[in-house]
Amino acid sequence: MLRRTQQIAEILENCDQQATWRAFDVQTASVPLPTALACSVGDFREPPGSLEALEPTDAVAVTALRFPLLQAALTAFARGATSGGAHTLLLTWSPSLPPHSDSVVKVAAMLERAATHLMPGLQVVCLEPPDGDPFRVAAMATYANETLVPWFDRQIVELRASDAKARLDVYLSHNTGTSAAIWVLTNALRHLKPALVAIPKCRARPLPGVPFAAEVLEETWVDAAPPCAVATVSDQAFAKAIEELRHWRAAYTEAIASPHHELGSFWLAKSSKPVLAVVVCQLADGSLQAFRGCNMEVSLPTGSLCAERNAISSALAANPAMRREDVRCVAVYGGQLGDKRFDNPLEPCGVCREWLLKIAEANPHFWVITFADDAATQVHVRPVEG
Ligand SMILES: [Zn+2]
Repeated sequence: MLRRTQQIAEILENCDQQATWRAFDVQTASVPLPTALACSVGDFREPPGSLEALEPTDAVAVTALRFPLLQAALTAFARGATSGGAHTLLLTWSPSLPPHSDSVVKVAAMLERAATHLMPGLQVVCLEPPDGDPFRVAAMATYANETLVPWFDRQIVELRASDAKARLDVYLSHNTGTSAAIWVLTNALRHLKPALVAIPKCRARPLPGVPFAAEVLEETWVDAAPPCAVATVSDQAFAKAIEELRHWRAAYTEAIASPHHELGSFWLAKSSKPVLAVVVCQLADGSLQAFRGCNMEVSLPTGSLCAERNAISSALAANPAMRREDVRCVAVYGGQLGDKRFDNPLEPCGVCREWLLKIAEANPHFWVITFADDAATQVHVRPVEG
């Protein structure tokens, strides 16, 4: 595989000037897109086969290359693509052990060439993992947590900032990956709800010279929704909600420190656990307004009100003409009173989620912000989930 790949890559590099690339349909697959490229280095002699089907000889003539990975992903990509949207192809692969093979890098270059030929205007991004054993979950999990998932988070934030109506559609195609890589990637990206997960082939054999051993996982987790640093949040509505919540937290902390409050004895009589919320609304002129809310638990059978709904009612009281689509986000923070506290991240309770889903029905771009730590330096920004 390595030798064939390098031979093919060298031929393609050397013949780049005079080669004529042509896209054509693979007749065996019923797909609307051309899924293979022909290079005129040689005549067509055989039906297009896969990369692995080419035999290494001293004089390899590249007649056709087929890319099953692109075939799966780009076909679904083209079906789901909406006009005017940005299209990005992310190419990545498993960690590898030294001595490094550059075959996968060469394959990625071929994929890029093929993909941009098939879909002009396509942006191609390559993410190269650090060293690691491709058959081990831990190496792949580290790569997913530290590089891959944050890359998708940045796309979401940029998408939100650029076009409120845009959405992120993900098409995931694995090819010749190890079971560790496929398992980790599929799980790490499942919160994005990929429209396609294609697994044409899985590589099961260990590397030559590397003894096969069962892997014991210790404190290695694949976080499907890791938080991002507050400083990386570029959406102005989200940033305003976070900033306002920090001010709100400071004011609350100051009130708790005073001797005159009735938080524990009256306002939070049931749990003594404070929850703070901030709702940010975007007005017709584009300006943003933030509204605070806190939970109240007066000792009566129906005496409780959650912070999220309290903040929303504050927003409506300030602007009775407010529409659900004006509400951009709600930030929720678990505070502390004495030794009583809610741990962060604190998700909205079931009743609040039902409420928030009602808003999301009219406004699919309404988001919930929770905090990964009590200092509110790391945030989760997610859609409302039922
Ligand atoms: Zn609630």
